[in-house]
Amino acid sequence: MTRIISIVNQKGGVGKTTTAVNLGAYLAAAGKNVLLVDVDPQANATSGLGIDHQTLPHGIYEVITGTVPLRQVVLPTSHAGLRVAPATLSLAGASVELVSEPEREFKLHQALLEAVGGYDYILIDCPPSLGLITINGLTAGNEILIPVQAEYYALEGLGQLLHTIQLIRDNLKPNIEVLGAVLTMYDRRNALSTDVMQQLYQYFPNRIFRSVIPRAVHLAEAPSYGQSILGYRPLSKGARAYERLAREVIGTEK
Ligand code: ATP
Ligand code: MG
Repeated sequence: MTRIISIVNQKGGVGKTTTAVNLGAYLAAAGKNVLLVDVDPQANATSGLGIDHQTLPHGIYEVITGTVPLRQVVLPTSHAGLRVAPATLSLAGASVELVSEPEREFKLHQALLEAVGGYDYILIDCPPSLGLITINGLTAGNEILIPVQAEYYALEGLGQLLHTIQLIRDNLKPNIEVLGAVLTMYDRRNALSTDVMQQLYQYFPNRIFRSVIPRAVHLAEAPSYGQSILGYRPLSKGARAYERLAREVIGTEK
């Protein structure tokens, strides 16, 4: 069974891409066969894994629009077991172009069908919006992982996100579940108040992952070397946190 996990939060800069890349690296290190699908036109997951998206002939955009099959765009990374379906700049136009297409909410889902079975995990790194690309990212998955930045404004937009997920369940895809929330960029100096934590637990009665990702400079540096934290600083506290998260995620396999 392939687990397809969409990593989503319409709020920008909360650690979606950092989580996608590093969770992917540690799942692969644990022996899983992983595909990271970059559906953000910013292509941060692609470049963060050392791939120059500007020189690529095609990427996930062509896959979504049906002109190139997925297997033709998938690239290896420095981690055995982790491959990436890269984003390129052309993806920026997709949300507009798809609007008039039939089944426009399921383009990514259809494109991924050929890969399902070939991987243990497919992680989808979504852009910071609730637009059509993110809807495609959600309907293509069967589980949703929500990075939540551990700060006072953590709750902002979460209600809207969970409402959107409910709408997708009601109208497009009944069988998607929220795997849980992962707290990112945790800093002891501005730890969340009990109040905010309580509200978070109300939003995520299923699960807030015990592995909290600390704010750690190595995590922010690694992408500029085109490396995951496993490649860049495997002994750092950020690395250990993502290793634990990967173990926790594996522990939720059914
Ligand atoms: P976007 O919404 O733009 O796609 P995102 O949610 O994918 O953003 P990231 O790109 O993962 O967020 O992170 C935002 C910034 O914060 C990046 O510069 C990243 O390197 C940095 N960052 C992410 N997680 C951490 C962390 N735990 N400690 C320190 N810096 C971090
Ligand atoms: Mg991102």
